[in-house]
Amino acid sequence: MLAWLLLVLLSAAAAAAPPALPQPLPVPGGVALLPLEAAAREPPVAYYDGRRVLVLPHEGGWLAVVGIPLSAAPGEHVLQVRHGAAARRYPFTVHPKQYAEQHLTLPERLVHPSPAELQRIRREARRLRAALTHWRPVAPETLLFSWPVQGEVSSPFGLRRFLNGEPRRPHSGLDIAAPQGTPVRAPAAGRVLDTGRFFFNGNTVVLDHGQGLITLYCHLARIAVAPGQEVAAGALLGTVGMSGRATGPHLHWGVSLNGALVDPRLFLPPEDVAAATTP
Ligand SMILES: [Zn+2]
Repeated sequence: MLAWLLLVLLSAAAAAAPPALPQPLPVPGGVALLPLEAAAREPPVAYYDGRRVLVLPHEGGWLAVVGIPLSAAPGEHVLQVRHGAAARRYPFTVHPKQYAEQHLTLPERLVHPSPAELQRIRREARRLRAALTHWRPVAPETLLFSWPVQGEVSSPFGLRRFLNGEPRRPHSGLDIAAPQGTPVRAPAAGRVLDTGRFFFNGNTVVLDHGQGLITLYCHLARIAVAPGQEVAAGALLGTVGMSGRATGPHLHWGVSLNGALVDPRLFLPPEDVAAATTP
């Protein structure tokens, strides 16, 4: 009887457990968590910057998980929400964040590509953009990731980069240094959306976790999956390499929400991040 009661209590606790959510950080390159007041069972449909936003059931209502692009200007932003015939605006504040600078020196060919290479780069940028803005109406299994590779963070998200002295786009992912051939594993379940060999990103895998949550794995030595394949958390995606534009073997890991590349660390357990950043 007591054991039965304990089981019932434990199941109730498990059912009431909060969903695994990213850390809220409403800054450029961060994530805003916005509770939506909607009592009905049908989920509300939310848009930010013209793109569909991930919405999860949360505490008897709904929660919008909004990715904020690095290019967003600090200030008031608005989430547009439709619920049946009703439309509502949810204003939220994007706070400023100053990211550090990084200066890199690379071979001129990679800094100033040839016209033919430029054509290839533009084509690949469109292909990657299409993958990162893909919407699949399936809720992600979790919004809490495990590290895709064991290694040291060699370059954080958001660094304002200068190549051979020229300002370039900020670093839109997290670099994890690891020896060539180290396994790269899916940080959560998903479906392989695209794979390919890209000029800058080298051998790349794009994983779709559902509702606009997409992850990106670049500079791989080897790709171990194919487009359309369903992968479980921990499945082998490929191995660490230095294909494309890389100065040493590492994984460039990108996390995109509603088309915005955001800081992957916000999706990792906070204690893991603290341990990884301790010198
Ligand atoms: Zn990188």
